[in-house]
Amino acid sequence: MLPEKDPRKQGEKDPKEDPSVTLFREYLRIKTVQPEPDYDTAVKFLERIASELDLPCQKVEVCPGRVITILTWKGTKPQLRSILLNSHTDVVPVFEEFWHHDPFAAFKDSEGNIFARGAQDMKCVSIQYIEAIRRLKAEGRRFPRTIHMSFVPDEEIGGYKGMQMFVKRPEFATLNVGFALDEGLANPTDTFTVFYGEKCPWWIKVKVEGNPGHGSRFIENTAAEKMHRVITSFLEFREREKQRLKSEKHLTLGDVTSLNLTMLNGGISFNVVPSEMSAAFDIRIPPTVDLKAFEEQVTAWCRAAGEGVTYEFHQKYTDQSMTSTEESDPWWKAFSTTCRNMNMKLKCEIFPAATDSRYIRAVSTSISLFAYFLNYLPCRCTPYFSSCFPEASLSEKAHSFLCIAGRSPGDWLLPHEPHSCAAA
Ligand SMILES: [Zn+2]
Repeated sequence: MLPEKDPRKQGEKDPKEDPSVTLFREYLRIKTVQPEPDYDTAVKFLERIASELDLPCQKVEVCPGRVITILTWKGTKPQLRSILLNSHTDVVPVFEEFWHHDPFAAFKDSEGNIFARGAQDMKCVSIQYIEAIRRLKAEGRRFPRTIHMSFVPDEEIGGYKGMQMFVKRPEFATLNVGFALDEGLANPTDTFTVFYGEKCPWWIKVKVEGNPGHGSRFIENTAAEKMHRVITSFLEFREREKQRLKSEKHLTLGDVTSLNLTMLNGGISFNVVPSEMSAAFDIRIPPTVDLKAFEEQVTAWCRAAGEGVTYEFHQKYTDQSMTSTEESDPWWKAFSTTCRNMNMKLKCEIFPAATDSRYIRAVSTSISLFAYFLNYLPCRCTPYFSSCFPEASLSEKAHSFLCIAGRSPGDWLLPHEPHSCAAA
């Protein structure tokens, strides 16, 4: 990592820097990094924004230390269903040795690239929403529908103490959400990917029992032989799905079932044939797959591997709700027409992993929810940096222009649609 020259003051000292970029960098410097995120500072930061924007700020503590912060811009017809702009405040851990800059210094290079954990996922989106509303308010604009900005904790570790709890609270029902935007992925082309559904994560642990014995003998029916058959069945299915994705050009990762063997356990010594082994699989199933039939397949694989082969779920998500992208749907029509009018090319896909969006979709099928990444319009192509893997953790970057007031798609989208959408 390179030593920074007083990076924390870098933004504040630059009189030419747009205040929205300075704010973005300030937000990036708050260490909301898992597993011990500094949520207190983030909430204080958001309270300050609320006060600057003259918006009421509601805090809902869904469990100790886990607060959902909601800033609300009341519409002129507050009885209409509202718009929810959701973002999470936490970021994934960093492997500092792979970074060229301090991941929490929000270093900006001479071209305006900002390097920090959370720059893409997803603090840039939060700041774009904030700056869009700041600008529109300054222009004296008012809109029929109420707009809520929600900032939630713990998305990066499953959202169990965040959005999953929040959607069950009366405070969420009171928001009366009709249309919601949540996080997507940056698209490296000039197209915006819009996610209208998510895969169901299934985490399955297969346990195998077999005859134990001494490592020098040919023991019959060992756990290893059965485990071999289990792994073969699972990985052969993986290969078929992988080939299907490769050969059928119209398919995306969201359309096929991904499967990975992620943990393998068993054995105590070189010379002891173990009586038990286990394998863990991370499976992501598209909402178009028949889950009952898929589980029957898993059962069949385990049965075929021999006696004493069982499986248990460590995660089994079964809600397969998808948001309508039919032209007859008033929300989609409003949203897609506005995007088209802004010359935004849209590509509809199933999200290949899982985000907080699944909790919102599951709680009410009447909420129209889309997830996408607000690339900067005049140069839309933003390279996507996966935040989860060491090799891709070199740097997340988001261009300074991404959040300059008046330059983001959010700024153009909000005044237009879906306020005029036919849905009540
Ligand atoms: Zn995220």
